[in-house]
Amino acid sequence: MKLEHIGIAVKDLKKSEKMYEELLRTSVYKREEVPSESVITSFLSTGSTKIELLASQDPDGPIARFISKRGPGIHHIAFEVNDIEMEIDRLVEQGYQLISTKPKLGADNKKIVFLHPSSTNGVLIELCQEVKK
Ligand code: ZN
Repeated sequence: MKLEHIGIAVKDLKKSEKMYEELLRTSVYKREEVPSESVITSFLSTGSTKIELLASQDPDGPIARFISKRGPGIHHIAFEVNDIEMEIDRLVEQGYQLISTKPKLGADNKKIVFLHPSSTNGVLIELCQEVKK
């Protein structure tokens, strides 16, 4: 599995975009709403991976709840897979807990699913697969 991106929960999207643009000497190349997660995402490329900034659009959404519990910071890491349904079956069979076993449509034209942090040493892990057009 390839590290596809790192998701970072932020309070202020504009300020965070500016900070990461400065830090990485690059520009946000995409900003996208993800209604299924009540977030706006911004993407920056760096090296062979990406940074995904996540800002909540709903005070009760998952990112808002994450920030109120733990503060802004790293929210998840995402690995790209070739066949997400096959990986879900494999991981469920091996006893991993998934937040949902049905892939959702995420940002950046991807099917996504999350592994529950309780089965991955406290790290929220996303699996993603590019949706073929
Ligand atoms: Zn992500």
